[in-house]
Amino acid sequence: MPSWGRADLHTHTNASDGWPTPLELVDHAARRSRLDVIAVTDHDTIEGALRAAEHAARRSRLQVIVGEEVSSRDGHIVGLFLERAVKPGLSAAATVHAIHEQGGIAVAAHPFWRTQRQRRTTPVHGVGWLAAELGFDAIEVENATPGFYVFNQLARRLNMGLGAAETGGSDAHIVDAVGRAFTEFPGKTPAALRRAIEMGETRAGRRRYRAVGLVRYAAWGLNHQRYVVAV
Ligand SMILES: [Zn+2]
Ligand SMILES: [Zn+2]
Repeated sequence: MPSWGRADLHTHTNASDGWPTPLELVDHAARRSRLDVIAVTDHDTIEGALRAAEHAARRSRLQVIVGEEVSSRDGHIVGLFLERAVKPGLSAAATVHAIHEQGGIAVAAHPFWRTQRQRRTTPVHGVGWLAAELGFDAIEVENATPGFYVFNQLARRLNMGLGAAETGGSDAHIVDAVGRAFTEFPGKTPAALRRAIEMGETRAGRRRYRAVGLVRYAAWGLNHQRYVVAV
C-alpha cells in the first residue's frame, strides 16, 4: 500500500486574477507546504499553468498538473490534465464534454457558490445541481475561500448521494492560501492522483488560515470586488 500524497487542485496565478506569478506559486508550494502536487487552474487560460509546470519540472520535486477553471455559461468548471485551453461561454454540458474529449478530468468547482444577484447579468459562479446531472469526475467539496463553509457543506451533502470522487482545492489567489484545502490520495504523483479520482479514492480536507492570511485575502478581495462573496 503506497503512502498518501497531498495535492492542492485549485490555484490561480497572475495569468488570470491571482497575485503570484507562476514561478512564485511553485516556489512557495515547494518550500512552504507539504504538497506533492498542485494543479494550476487559472480562469480561462492555461498559460500560467504551462509556465508553472515547466518551472517545476526544472527546479523542484513538486509536480504541476496543467488545468483551467473554465467560465461555462452555467458556472465554473475545473478541467485537469489539459493539453489545450477549453473556451469559455459554452454550456456546462459542452464544457465537460470538451474536457473529456482531450482526456481531461472535469471537476465541479464550488458548485453551490452563488453570489447575490444585484443585476440580472451577475454571473453565477457554481454549476449548482447540474453537478449531479452531468458526467463530472469529481466534486470540489472543500474550497478554502473565506466564508465558503456553507457552500462546502452543501457540496459534501450532494456528493454523499452522488458518490463521485471528492476533491479539495484552496482556490488560492494569494500564496498564503495555498494548501489550505487539499486532496489526499494513495501515491505521490499526478498519475496516482488521476487513478485515485477515477477509483473514487480521494479524501478532501482543509487547514485553518493564519490571521495574516485572512488579512491578505481581504486586501486581495478589495481589488477584486466581483469575486467577493456576501454570506
Ligand atoms: Zn471559481
Ligand atoms: Zn478559482
